[in-house]
Amino acid sequence: MLHNKEYSSAFSYYNLEGSSEVVLMCEHASNYIPDAFHNLGLSQDQVNDHIGWDIGALDVAKALADKLDAPLIYSNYSRLLIDLNRILENPGLIPSVSENHQIAGNQNLTEEQRQERIDTLYTPFHDAAANLINTQKTKHKALKIVSIHSFTPIFLGQQRPWPIGVLYGQAQNFAQQVINNLSYQKLNVGVNEPYEIDIEEDMTIPFHGDNNLIPALLLEIRNDLISTNTGVEEWAERLEKALKTKN
Ligand SMILES: [Zn+2]
Repeated sequence: MLHNKEYSSAFSYYNLEGSSEVVLMCEHASNYIPDAFHNLGLSQDQVNDHIGWDIGALDVAKALADKLDAPLIYSNYSRLLIDLNRILENPGLIPSVSENHQIAGNQNLTEEQRQERIDTLYTPFHDAAANLINTQKTKHKALKIVSIHSFTPIFLGQQRPWPIGVLYGQAQNFAQQVINNLSYQKLNVGVNEPYEIDIEEDMTIPFHGDNNLIPALLLEIRNDLISTNTGVEEWAERLEKALKTKN
């Protein structure tokens, strides 16, 4: 049993004073699991793989924050402890299975253990994100939210063809603009692929964006494309162009 003081901050900011009208978020930025959890019964290799975090996503988010001069908020803990992009009611919030791996340390949690993760990791992140968004809203009429994620090229044996996916709920115009701009760069853009925004599942886009009438997108980059510094820089540039160019 961990106590609150044994956790360090659930999240970090980057470029908090950035002047952009875009707020960047990265909910699956880290694969850190405190020692007391013994990797939830997984091997270090498994935790280092995509089930533990979105490989390369934080690097792209930071590079993009620099280019846009945008503030970024990101998580400091693995999604295996608690998935910040799931609503509290969703069974995947504290996943007992990820892809086809059983997660022993998440089976049969007591109500107290579950609540502890919510109180120490989930609520602080989303409260801070809401505060950041509110602050930026007072500065920018055309505020937008962009959440940066990455996906594995092969999921449950299936090859995924897109280098990037643009996922959205209500933000049709913003999404279309970014899709057009990425397509203009000759990219095979997955529209609401490899996932869809689902209000019974997703937290960030519906809760921070759509419910507040703030255009919000979730960008999913294939993780093999952003595993090197060159790849990160290339994709940050592409995203900068896609987010800046108006058509
Ligand atoms: Zn993700």
